[in-house]
Amino acid sequence: MTDASAEDVSSARDAASATRLTVDLGAIVRNWRTMSGLAAGAECAAVVKADAYGLGAEAVVPALSKAGCGTFFVATAAEGSRVRALAPDAILYVLDGVFPNAEPAFAADGLRPVLSSIEQAESWMPFAVSTDAPPVALHVDTGMNRLGLNASDLVAFDTEQLAPALVMSHLACADDPHHPKNAAQLRTLETLRARVSGVPASLANSAGILLGEAFRFDLVRPGIALYGGRPSRFAANPVEPVVTFEGRIAQVRSAAPGDTVGYGAMRTIRRSTRLAIVAAGYADGYMRAGGSSDTRTGAMAFVAGRHVPVMGRVSMDLIALDVTELPDGAARAGDWVELIGPNVGVDDAAAAAGTISYEILCGIGRRAERSYRGG
Ligand SMILES: *Cc1c(COP(=O)(O)O)cnc(C)c1O
Repeated sequence: MTDASAEDVSSARDAASATRLTVDLGAIVRNWRTMSGLAAGAECAAVVKADAYGLGAEAVVPALSKAGCGTFFVATAAEGSRVRALAPDAILYVLDGVFPNAEPAFAADGLRPVLSSIEQAESWMPFAVSTDAPPVALHVDTGMNRLGLNASDLVAFDTEQLAPALVMSHLACADDPHHPKNAAQLRTLETLRARVSGVPASLANSAGILLGEAFRFDLVRPGIALYGGRPSRFAANPVEPVVTFEGRIAQVRSAAPGDTVGYGAMRTIRRSTRLAIVAAGYADGYMRAGGSSDTRTGAMAFVAGRHVPVMGRVSMDLIALDVTELPDGAARAGDWVELIGPNVGVDDAAAAAGTISYEILCGIGRRAERSYRGG
């Protein structure tokens, strides 16, 4: 045992950190302003469900509030209560609606339920007239068959009694502007909306905003674009990257032709290779499906100014990178490498793992040290 000072120990703990996530709140605010500009006159809300897509509602919500965002969407009432504490004056909608007997929780925190069935609307009704309950939104299904009242429900139901503050629907194929479902859903919403005349309407998520003016109605609901994900594969990305996710090199080692790398020996070494073993893995949210085998290429990382491939399977806490092409000494134990960030786009990382940016962001683990800048 040595007698290290508390200060030494604290700086050694910093030196010991293995993964880190940096969230650029300034970029989130700029992205919200960009989407707000594209919404051209419609109010721009922010979808902050799932802890602001995994990035931390505690930091994201105040930054967006300060920038002028006045309406937020969450998925559940529990999320709504957390966001209420962060944005006392904001309008908060709960997308998943109300479970039976949960109504008072909504009133307590001023949460507006997005009602999506006759049952929900009927159980809200007595509650709405007997207390100072918050207003509601009505979700109408226009073809996604996820949540929402059907056209026939709307006929059967006297919506005036509920006095909804918003009527909304959700697009199934907004990321593909050529999909005929978009126009069909738009027409259906326009028809259904006539039954709740005078009520503001909302249809567009991030990708929906790019579909054109007809889709924007009175309020737009971007989520992924705020966090730097490309809303549509068919349009240039209008937003800037938000997250940088880095891991640290634990060891650099040499491998010879015929050697294999990692679990399952899925990847055989073909040339004299230098491997950088990075202390990050699927426990940090680095997708296991981003690994590579002899027949499948995987994700890329960015080390000392170059893109390098992941080799073999991703473990719980470790990844192997092929750094043979880097100059000698360019990758050393202790160096940070970029796994997602300005040089390894979250959409590219997602594609390499056969998934979407949403799942990558929501999945970034609690083990990574988090820091926020800007905002
Ligand atoms: C998640 C969600 C959004 C936001 O979608 P993005 O594609 O992330 O912009 C909007 N509306 C509803 C109903 C949602 O569930």
